[in-house]
Order: sequence, then C-alpha cells, then structure tokens
Amino acid sequence: MEESDRLLNYINGEWRRSAAAEYLEVINPATNDVLGQVPLSPASEVNEAAQAAAIAFEEWRRVPAPDRIQYLFRLKNILEENFEDIARTITMECGKTIGESRGEMRRAIENVEVACGIPIMMQGDFSEDIASGIDELMIRQPVGVCAAIAPFNFPGMIAFWFMPYALACGNTYIVKPSEKVPLTMQKIFKLLEQAGFPKGVVNLVNGAKEAVDAILDHPAIRAISFVGSTPVAKYVYGRGSANGKRVQAQGGAKNPIIVLPDADMEMTTRIAADSAFGCAGQRCLAASIALTVADARQPFTEAISEAAAARVVGYGLDESVQMGPVINLPSMKRVEGLIQNGVDEGAAAVVDGRSPAIPGYENGSFVRPTVLDGVDPDGSIAKTEIFGPVLSLIHVDTIDEAIKYINGGQYGNMACLFTSSGAAARKFRYEVNAGNIGINVGVAAPMAFFPFSGWKESFFGTLHGQGDHAVEFFTQTKVVVERWPKLWSRQF
Ligand code: NAD
Repeated sequence: MEESDRLLNYINGEWRRSAAAEYLEVINPATNDVLGQVPLSPASEVNEAAQAAAIAFEEWRRVPAPDRIQYLFRLKNILEENFEDIARTITMECGKTIGESRGEMRRAIENVEVACGIPIMMQGDFSEDIASGIDELMIRQPVGVCAAIAPFNFPGMIAFWFMPYALACGNTYIVKPSEKVPLTMQKIFKLLEQAGFPKGVVNLVNGAKEAVDAILDHPAIRAISFVGSTPVAKYVYGRGSANGKRVQAQGGAKNPIIVLPDADMEMTTRIAADSAFGCAGQRCLAASIALTVADARQPFTEAISEAAAARVVGYGLDESVQMGPVINLPSMKRVEGLIQNGVDEGAAAVVDGRSPAIPGYENGSFVRPTVLDGVDPDGSIAKTEIFGPVLSLIHVDTIDEAIKYINGGQYGNMACLFTSSGAAARKFRYEVNAGNIGINVGVAAPMAFFPFSGWKESFFGTLHGQGDHAVEFFTQTKVVVERWPKLWSRQF
C-alpha cells in the first residue's frame, strides 16, 4: 500500500496526515480489493479539530445568513458537477448499485438546497407592546461547534441531514465518517474546500471509537448528531447528554410491512421487494418483516418469492444489477448465520440466498435475496435487525393483530401498509407506533424538508435531522424583553 493511499484528515483548512497508531483497510465489498487505508485518529486530532472549529465559530457566526448560504449555493453546484464521480465512489466502497448511490446523493443535495432557505427558516418572533412601551423578541443564534458521527450504509448522504443546516445557521462543523466507508467523505471534503468555506468552519476526522469518545467529551463541541446501531446510539446519547451537549441519535430498525388482501399484489410485490432487497437490505428503512393478513398470504408469498429469486445480483457499477453485496465478509457471515437461526426456529427458507456464486465476483461479500416463510413471531429472527437482504413472512388473521404485533416491537423507524382501503390506511396511520409511515410505499424516506422521524429505540432525543427540526437543533433561542418608555421618544 502506497503512502498516498492513506486517507487524510481535514482540520483548520488543511489536509493533515494522522498520527494514528493503527490504519484499517477500506475494502470494495464486491471484489474484496483494498481501496485505501483509513486512520483510527487519536483523541488529540479530534481536539485539534474542535479547537479550530471553536476559533472559526467566532467569525463565522458573524457572517450574515444571506452571505453564509452563498457557500451552500456554490457547494450545490460543485456537488452536481461531481455527482457521478461521488456516486461511483459510494458504490465502490459501500457496494450498493450505482442507481442507489445516485439516489443517495440526490437526497444529500436536496438538503443543501433546503438549507439555502435559512434566512427565512431561522427567523425569530417579535411581539410589540406586551405591556405599554415594552416589546419582546425571540432570536435564534447558533450553538457553536457541532459534529456528526455517521454509519456505513449511506457514506454520502447522512452528514447532509445535519451539516448544511448547522453551517447555514452559523455553526462550525466536524464530520466523523464510518471507518468502513471513508472515501466518499474524503472526496466530498475536497469539494467543500473548493466551495471556499473559511478555515476551521468544516473539519473531517477519520476514526472509530476513540474519535467518537473524544467528540462526546470535548467541551467545545455543543451538539452531536449520531446515526448508527441502537446500542451505540444509546451510548452516544447517554454520554453526550451527561456532558451537557445536545444529542440526536438515530438507531437501528426492524421495519414491518402489512399486506392486506385488497392490496394490488403486483405493485405491492414490486415495492416490497425494492424495500427488502434494495441496498442489499442495509437500509434503516428496509422492510424486514412482511405481515400478510388472511387471504393475502398465498399470493404475496408466491409473488415475493419469485421477485426475490429473479433479482439480478452483482457489482453495483454494472447498470443492469439490481442488488450489490453486503458491506464485508463478517457481515455476510453474520447474515448467513441469522438465516440459519430462522430455519432452526422453524421457518422455511423458501428462497435461500446463502453462498451464491456471482460470476466474476467470487471474492465478494454477497448474499442473494432470501425469503423466510412462517417465521416464529416470538423467535429471535423476528426481533433481530438482520441488515441484509432477508424478508421474514409472518401470517396473521386481522389488521388489528398485525398492528398489535408491530406496536409490541422494540423499534419504531418505519411501518408500511399495502391496501386499497382508505379506512384501513387511516386506521394504520393513526394507530401504528412508528415515526415514518408508508401507505403503498415501501421506503417512506422523508424529503429533506420533513424530519426523519424515528421513534422508540430507533431514535434517542427530541429533534430529528433535516428541515425545521434541524434548524431548531442547530440554534438556541434568545428572548429579549425591551422597555422604551414613550417619554424618551419625545425628543425625536
Ligand atoms: P455502528 O453503530 O456500528 O457505527 C456507527 C458509528 O458509530 C460509526 O461511525 C462507528 O465508528 C461508531 N461506533 C461504532 N461502535 C462504536 C462504539 N462502541 N463506541 C463509539 N463509537 C462507535 O453502525 P453501522 O454498522 O455503521 O451502521 C448500521 C446501523 O445504522 C444499522 O443499525 C442501521 O439501522 C443504522 N442506521 C440507522 C439510520 C436511521 O436513520 N435510524 C440510518 C442509517 C443507518
């Protein structure tokens, strides 16, 4: 491995080589080729970034909002110009198809576009004469240095649920990408540099647990946005909050869909297959359990099994491929082990995607789409986040039974219903305990101008990423009460 393959940190407007004692290999999951080496940066490098960001904050917060968003307009254009290159990098290090990578970057850019509305989104309130000659106003001010800690499954998008809003509101920023997929952010930070942000306003620190802990503990960092698995989300929320910081922590999921007998089976199957097997099931909004109600059982089981078996699996850069590998070999082994657990608990692997031979990609971390039928609703496989292309089928008699089952679950990221009945749809929307709801939609991913609303153990905090919630999270309100007696205006 060449020295030039070692990724750098970007701190205080400079690309810096890390003093890390350990580097990890970055792997292309389709081929197992090594793409680069990522430093596990020590706490001291997070501290340098936090210090640089704290100094930069003093100037940046004074840049008027209409001027701050000029950097974001420039960034949007630069991201568009480099769109295909970034999408290819995502596919190479993360494995998803090139179409999925483009979709990811589209949502990232959409968040930049929405954040360009900050001059109006962060406006305050003003009440004249709350008493005679006394006015009260509320202004929003930035909180200071903020940081994002990202997971592996969306290497480009996730920092953009937070960073554009934070910067537009006048905060300075640190991104800690997943150590499994650091190449995309390395590329994006080159583009942030081109957008001309003043030094210290945006910073990149690669690493893993030591870097995260340093972010959680550094006194200058005032707000943290985390996305990842539930145990780490809980840990980040607990330690960050105990240190007096604002924390929003998005966790894992086990997303159910319900199929009613009156659903359009052809459309439902297509959408459910995209949800369960898209991004190789490594999406926090992937369908993981399908609850078929009454007569929906047989047609859906047959159709989804056919769709699973027919899915074209291969290297994501090939435009005809519909599903890529999972992130790495340990993940492949883990998913295969969980499929076996399901079988051991009594399910039938009606489509079994273990040990597939993908011609030309024999070294890749592939699992083909898998359908487990007759999954034990109380078994471990029905409760565990598999994070692979596995759909579990559970059969019930009524929609009430299905909703009760969903509401008894640990997570609340997303739930979907497939039906042609408005009454059933409304009942579902009203009663289901999940923060993102799909009605005849399989991946209910909120647009950038809506919050990404996980519930229960899928989210720790109050304000979510994106849109208005992000503006609330990245600003603190200041209320001012002013008295200007009438007497004093006489002289004017
Ligand atoms: P992960 O929790 O292993 O890692 C996430 C981040 O935390 C990484 O940056 C990693 O370096 C850091 N980290 C890992 N272990 C740590 C520890 N012990 N202490 C401190 N930091 C630690 O998650 P992942 O495997 O990268 O991503 C997949 C998970 O993310 C899935 O559970 C998925 O559901 C979830 N996810 C959730 C959403 C959402 O919106 N709710 C979105 C995407 C992914």
